[in-house]
Amino acid sequence: SLTIGIVGLPNVGKSTLFNALTKNDVLAANYPFATIEPNVGVVGVPDARLAKLAEIFGSQKILPATVDFVDIAGIVRGASEGEGLGNKFLANIRESDAICQVIRAFKDENVVHVDGKVSPKDDIETINTELILADLQTIEKVLPRLQRESRIKKDVVAKVTAIEAAKGILDAGQTLFAAGITQGSDQEALLHDLHLLTVKPFLYVFNVDEDELTDDAFKAEQSALVAPAEAIFLNAKLESDLAELDDEEAMELLQSVGVEEPGLARLAHVGFNTLGLQTYLTAGPKESRAWTIKKGATAPEAAGVIHTDFQKGFIKAEVISFEDLVEMGSIAESRAKGKARMEGKDYVMQDGDVVEFRFNV
Ligand code: GDP
Repeated sequence: SLTIGIVGLPNVGKSTLFNALTKNDVLAANYPFATIEPNVGVVGVPDARLAKLAEIFGSQKILPATVDFVDIAGIVRGASEGEGLGNKFLANIRESDAICQVIRAFKDENVVHVDGKVSPKDDIETINTELILADLQTIEKVLPRLQRESRIKKDVVAKVTAIEAAKGILDAGQTLFAAGITQGSDQEALLHDLHLLTVKPFLYVFNVDEDELTDDAFKAEQSALVAPAEAIFLNAKLESDLAELDDEEAMELLQSVGVEEPGLARLAHVGFNTLGLQTYLTAGPKESRAWTIKKGATAPEAAGVIHTDFQKGFIKAEVISFEDLVEMGSIAESRAKGKARMEGKDYVMQDGDVVEFRFNV
């Protein structure tokens, strides 16, 4: 499955955040026999629709979609120089599908900042600079050869042009993601086999003091630093405390700081979106469940997530939108009122589709 790598300077709260994530581990609760790797936190994506479906269908269990976060330890500054830990650090980032930077905004004299002062802007620049330098090195390794080849092989010309454009962006100190080179675009396709780091989608977690959680002006200012990436504001220590509490106690603690939902819930949602994922829903007496698919997935591809045989033998999908199903109150009533649609193999799944697949075995 797709993973999000967590990176950041030392002492910004990565471990604290990661501990909170693993305390929230949904694997442990729902899949007791799954192997859990020590540096992976599998977090449920909260989805209120599942509780509603469980109510309608009398489901015994609720299984949310999940996002995998990988704790990427290692020094960051000088990483691009490729020594020891630096190499491993970059290799780990290369394996991630998105990059989550944890940025320190909290002030605490007892926690040393590696650069002596708390400055989100400088920290973001420090990390991005390492990633940009690593990408420039990758490019410099292949570009001269490709430039020579392109004089003879015309099909290499477009690739060289794309790489030169990417180099220009990186030389100017910008990540490819920030410059709008998105996954799946033609330009990204031409760069794909270079496995560049900064073309991966980024998201930013600002580890802030509790009073900043409700400071909209502050949050707007920090968000502007990282756009078009999404910014999440949380207090890692608070998240860690929340993860120890039952739902009711957690709500009370959140209310006491003026916040509606845990930062981890936001992080899971934003992470899920950043990975280009969406869900569809299934429901029955056994379980109500959210299944993970790529945005734009077709009905047979969605069926394949449940079982490869469902994809191979796909006939059609009976689809009811979540809203319609809730309004009708049952599948039978949805069918009677013409709200259940039969969709074929070209159907592109929509968020909130409640589905039952028909297939040959
Ligand atoms: P890492 O090096 O990035 O993994 O940082 P840690 O999670 O180990 O945190 C470094 C120190 O900062 C620890 O002493 C934490 O208790 C403290 N810390 C983490 N998050 C917060 C926070 O939100 N507020 C404050 N005041 N301290 C924090």
